[in-house]
Amino acid sequence: PRSTPLYSRQRQMCIRDRYISTRDNSKEYSFEQVFIKGLADDGGLFIPKEVKKYSAEQIKALSNLSYQNLAKEIIYPFIGDFMTINELSDIVDRSYSVFRKDNVVDLIKLGDATILELFHGPTLAFKDIAMQLLGNFYEHYLKKNNKNINVIVATSGDTGAAAIDAIKGKKNMNIFVLHPHNKVSLVQRKLMSTVKEKNVFNIAIEGNFDDCQNLVKSMFADKEFSNLINMSGVNSINWARIIAQSVYYFYTYFQIKDDRPINFSVPTGNFGDVYAGYLSKKMGLPINKLIVATNQNDILHRAISRGKYEAETVLETNSPSMDIQIASNFERLIYDLNDFDDRETQKVMSGIKEDGKYIIPEDKMKKIDRDFLSASINENEVLDIIKEVYAMHNIVLDPHSAIGFGALKKVNIEGNNIVLATAHPCKFPEAIDKSIGIKPDLPDELKYVMDEKENYDIISNNLSKTQQYIKEKI
Ligand SMILES: *Cc1c(COP(=O)(O)O)cnc(C)c1O
Repeated sequence: PRSTPLYSRQRQMCIRDRYISTRDNSKEYSFEQVFIKGLADDGGLFIPKEVKKYSAEQIKALSNLSYQNLAKEIIYPFIGDFMTINELSDIVDRSYSVFRKDNVVDLIKLGDATILELFHGPTLAFKDIAMQLLGNFYEHYLKKNNKNINVIVATSGDTGAAAIDAIKGKKNMNIFVLHPHNKVSLVQRKLMSTVKEKNVFNIAIEGNFDDCQNLVKSMFADKEFSNLINMSGVNSINWARIIAQSVYYFYTYFQIKDDRPINFSVPTGNFGDVYAGYLSKKMGLPINKLIVATNQNDILHRAISRGKYEAETVLETNSPSMDIQIASNFERLIYDLNDFDDRETQKVMSGIKEDGKYIIPEDKMKKIDRDFLSASINENEVLDIIKEVYAMHNIVLDPHSAIGFGALKKVNIEGNNIVLATAHPCKFPEAIDKSIGIKPDLPDELKYVMDEKENYDIISNNLSKTQQYIKEKI
């Protein structure tokens, strides 16, 4: 890469590779531990001990890089001695060679706004961008340490497919994906269940996404089980995913050539993607506002607009990848809001566990207001937005991306407004058909999945049954 001198300079100036837990910041972890464990033993989330800011000059030095070279620059300071820059460089290039766009993502003008298309990877959702990298990080780790691993992941539809594609056929590892039975779209399920590699296992849980996520959390907490099977997780709390996602905020910033403030509207479920935007801002990227766009499962909208973080029952909507009431990554923001105080964070989190809510104090709401806006979009609005955008611009947004677009309109903000398009519309043909009477086609190279034989097992929402199933398979 032409920018090698930059790596070492930034490495020294922007060390971000020592990690702590949001619930106990006295103990340090390496990137390797953070990546493999996913969640800290104390139940907290990993974050860098310190996120040093790039100077304006350092940011400028990144501005003309290809997406791949930018990714190397952004990610390297976070990973410490997990791998060398040459190893990272090779992994980034290989990971993104499977995308349908040379620069991984694409920017499309849509009236006053810009759509950031993040769905040009193998499973048609933004999650591929981080997950392809993670698959290769695992491979590197397993080779280096001569280990076996079982990845267990809960999915509301897109994570599972992206993780399976990234891990299928890799040596010394299996992947088990728990999806809520009958609550993911047919295309989403087929992208998971038609994969034939022997290290891939699909489980349909009779419950909703939060049930799946709770099962995975309980399996992690069960030390005897998780140690026995060398369990690892790739859910959106995994720090490696966050840093991979922050790259496209930088990349987009560099593509926008005028000086108005830049805002990102982010279709949000687990608060992972939008947190990556927040992290970019912490790294010094001049982002004005991050718009948290939710569907009717609007816990984050209620938190950000009214200071009330309180889970309600999960509603099934036409944007299933955001049908979530417990936004796991929000704890990382809670830690910042509480002035990096681990004890306070612990208190807030046990309050949420006990009373189901966190009433965010006035002074902390002021901090939220500096960086975030929010809006919630209901099912009918989603269909209307898809129709309107199609009529005006001849572009078909998927329901999640439509929520990003609709939220941007609702908050009514000036500037360079970017909407993250998080999935390809063909993943959600039912909703698109209902809105505009069209069923968008899968890209040619993926059409075959619709006719392939499916393979998945249905299990009740029960921890020991799920654990038993996994033990039998490995
Ligand atoms: C996962 C997902 C989201 C939500 O992302 P979070 O990081 O969980 O907030 C939005 N849209 C699509 C299509 C997704 O797959």
